[in-house]
Amino acid sequence: MRRLLIIGNWKLNGNKNTITNLIITLVNTFDNISKCNVAIAPPVMYLDITKRYLLNSRIQLCAQNVDIHLSGSFTGDISAEMLQDLNVRYALIGHSERRIHHKENDAYIAKKFFILKKVGLIPILCVGENKREYDSGYTQSVCINQINTIITLLGIEAFKNSVIAYEPIWAIGSGASASPENAQLVHKSIRDYIASYDTSIADKITIQYGGSVTPENVTKFFDQKDIDGVLVGAASLNANSFSMIVQTAENHKKSYPA
Ligand code: PEP
Repeated sequence: MRRLLIIGNWKLNGNKNTITNLIITLVNTFDNISKCNVAIAPPVMYLDITKRYLLNSRIQLCAQNVDIHLSGSFTGDISAEMLQDLNVRYALIGHSERRIHHKENDAYIAKKFFILKKVGLIPILCVGENKREYDSGYTQSVCINQINTIITLLGIEAFKNSVIAYEPIWAIGSGASASPENAQLVHKSIRDYIASYDTSIADKITIQYGGSVTPENVTKFFDQKDIDGVLVGAASLNANSFSMIVQTAENHKKSYPA
């Protein structure tokens, strides 16, 4: 059975003080969470300090990025083994901000996917269309193409115990989320596409929605059959908002006991 997965992506925000305060509040607030999965993605600089506060908590750690190499002369990069060393469970790859600002393409993202699987971390593959593609009706083909590169290079098996996050680029940080009904259509097309290779992987894979999720709009996303959680940016930087989103997941009829 799929469980709702809520991830907070803190991006390039915070400092030692604000991150510590936020994590302490969340750990206390999420004490009773048992039916959904929750992870936070602090800036890499603060993964270690965050980890220490999460010791007896059900909140898991997510990295915002990973390099394609495990070690060597790659100044400034972070390896999947280093993340594993810090008990990181998930890593975001293919986020549109990295595709845009760092020119990461599908083939390069597939290498990140591969290295994460190799060390046993769970990739969260972000896919999604820009506004022009959305307006032209290319949403589903853009997402399928992004997923297809992984399937072609790594095989459908790579999606076992992996996560996909559908994040329309125009919805990220804009305050204008996709409509839950349209997001559902995209999620279903992704699941159907994976099912065309392997129905068991398709049934089990978690497909999150991301893009201007708030406590106010999140229930309608959870109500959709193929939406298995949310990837949250701005609202996850506010302890109240993020707690409300997680509590909504915990109370949702889709949530299952651990
Ligand atoms: C994101 O960057 O992944 C994201 C979903 O951001 P926001 O929630 O701020 O739109």
